[in-house]
Amino acid sequence: MTKPSTIIPITLPTPFDVGPVNCVLLKGDAVTLIDSGAKTEESREVLLSSLKENGVTLADLDQYICTHYHPDHAGLSKEIQQAGVQTLMLQEAVPYVSGNSEFIEWGESFYTELYRSFGVPDALGRLELLKLRKYRTFSAPFVPDITPMPGDAVLGHEGFTFLKTPGHAPDHLSLYNEEQGIMIGGDVLLPHISSNALLEPPALNDAERPRTLLQYRDTLHYLLTLNLGLVYPGHGEPFSNAHDLIRKRLQDHLERAKAIEHLLSDEPLTVFELCARLFPKVYEKQLGLVVSEVAGHLDLLHSESRVSHDKENHVFYFRRTGAIR
Ligand SMILES: [Zn+2]
Repeated sequence: MTKPSTIIPITLPTPFDVGPVNCVLLKGDAVTLIDSGAKTEESREVLLSSLKENGVTLADLDQYICTHYHPDHAGLSKEIQQAGVQTLMLQEAVPYVSGNSEFIEWGESFYTELYRSFGVPDALGRLELLKLRKYRTFSAPFVPDITPMPGDAVLGHEGFTFLKTPGHAPDHLSLYNEEQGIMIGGDVLLPHISSNALLEPPALNDAERPRTLLQYRDTLHYLLTLNLGLVYPGHGEPFSNAHDLIRKRLQDHLERAKAIEHLLSDEPLTVFELCARLFPKVYEKQLGLVVSEVAGHLDLLHSESRVSHDKENHVFYFRRTGAIR
């Protein structure tokens, strides 16, 4: 007889603007932890005491699954693995979590060059790089023991399978129970904020950066084909109106793209100039997020041949190609 799995959300504090993160304790035939919070003393204490309240110690965990490499989700992975727990992530996560110095350097030179081509002043670009380095310190490098394939069953939890849900992060996975209509979704869909499709370096020595917003929109279209009755998100409360929310997110992308198209009416602009016009209050403080947002929507417009760009002194200038629809 298999036991149906009980889903127990565990909320942990993070040092990040996004606020607390939700991990999940899944108790069925196996005991599984999904995500682990940032690598801080406070987060570790709350995680261990929450597990204890549910009658579980790290030694009782049969497996640990991490939805994506971002430190607010993956930060304590290494400690959990060192406690002897089998650690699972998609294969795509390996370069991001393994602390490979070649990949880290490649990523840093990618961002430096990309920001320059977006017209970001060098001082601000350097500041972003320092923030990225600081951000990485909230996670310790590790290599997952198992890299499941999308569609594989989650051991010990009947009905649950792994979904590949990239866009917010290239290695993003979710757990899905088709019969029950349940998704444990990490950051693929959040109830109160839109998930940013963050810019990512391409795989080592690949020339093309991934078009992350387009990837994310493909993921959202895919999720619309699934039975989603209840979603447990990485931030915020569980919610049931997933399909409505997905349609809203998709529509919001189109509207933001249109707003950018409007700004390009008069003159060609750089990504940085667009950031300053679209997000005048936050573009300097949250440059990384804002650049991802603008570049992603330019990719969307580009995919529909609605913008083109010229390169002048290593900087891209975007222009509108046609009449505004
Ligand atoms: Zn994330």
